Amino acid sequence: MEEVKKEKSQRRRERERESNVKMTREAREKIIKKIKYKATALIGCDGVHSVVARWLGLTTPVNSGRWAVRGLAIFPEGHGLEVDSQQFVTIGKRAAFAALNDKEVYWFLVGQSSKGEDIPHDPETIKKEVISNFAKNFPTSYLRVVQHSDLSTVTWAPLLFRFPWDVILGNLSKGNITVAGDAMHPMTPDLGQGGCSALEDAVVLGRHIGNLIIKNKKLVAGDQVAEALERYVKERKWRVSMLIMGAYLAGWVQQDGSGWFMKFLRDSIFYRHFSSLMSKDRQYDCGKLPCVSSSNNELDNDPRKIY
Ligand SMILES: Cc1cc2nc3c(=O)[nH]c(=O)nc-3n(C[C@H](O)[C@H](O)[C@H](O)COP(=O)(O)OP(=O)(O)OC[C@H]3O[C@@H](n4cnc5c(N)ncnc54)[C@H](O)[C@@H]3O)c2cc1C
Repeated sequence: MEEVKKEKSQRRRERERESNVKMTREAREKIIKKIKYKATALIGCDGVHSVVARWLGLTTPVNSGRWAVRGLAIFPEGHGLEVDSQQFVTIGKRAAFAALNDKEVYWFLVGQSSKGEDIPHDPETIKKEVISNFAKNFPTSYLRVVQHSDLSTVTWAPLLFRFPWDVILGNLSKGNITVAGDAMHPMTPDLGQGGCSALEDAVVLGRHIGNLIIKNKKLVAGDQVAEALERYVKERKWRVSMLIMGAYLAGWVQQDGSGWFMKFLRDSIFYRHFSSLMSKDRQYDCGKLPCVSSSNNELDNDPRKIY
């Protein structure tokens, strides 16, 4: 009898707990639905899987068929490397290291995805895989760098990009909503320009919005913001589309294949001619930000006032 009573009260307590959880979740969802944010503009800087890009109707980034591992090696006593940076290329793999200072060295390895390949996500296993499998035939200088990795920095990622024509023809802004950085133009890392171009976006966007404020002598909203975002998109889309294309080609020619034709393309054409052209592209000048003194009395700088 005692046993049955105990069981009944336990079941009751469980039911109560479940209904509390349900109520809390329902209550939370109700609150979330009621929250509305009012913003002058929304800039989606939410990376390669951007929800804002999806909302704008941009295509999902595609897989380049390659992956990359990267990390930061720490040498508390100094790395003592003979050269500051070095690149290693072999069939289907490309790796490099670059010293950031006398104690820290950035490294990466790019490989090709083959069907069924299971890349680990745990940093310790990634590091072991690089040393004992992917880079096992690479020079000891490279393996030593990987060995010294700070595990919190070691990551693996498939290399995704958006087709350049989707950037040129897609809706990069709608009203007062737009995207910047990887959300707009995910690219393979072969030119080292993904993050740099995200910074360029910030400068160009800042200039268009800044000019709007200067012109109106106050913060404005509505059509004028939408037009400023359109001008930003117009200025950026060709530049970033060229970078996506250049990065893809650079990755393909440096890594894809070891036949005589690819070797000729890589060594006699790419490294001799195109790489210098591309390095010029890295010196791109995205212009300056407008300069307004905060003591400028002509501007009404109170951000709470939007007209
Ligand atoms: C292997 C590799 C090597 C690279 N090497 C270079 C290089 O040498 N030079 C270079 O310039 N670039 C390089 N890049 C590219 C560079 O890392 C990216 O282009 C850059 O990080 C993009 O910045 P981002 O701010 O647009 O996106 P992210 O850095 O991806 O940041 C997006 C942020 O948004 C957050 N977020 C996502 N979804 C949501 C959401 N729904 N709500 C709120 N927040 C959200 C994320 O948590 C994240 O913090 C490399 C990339 C890879 C993969």
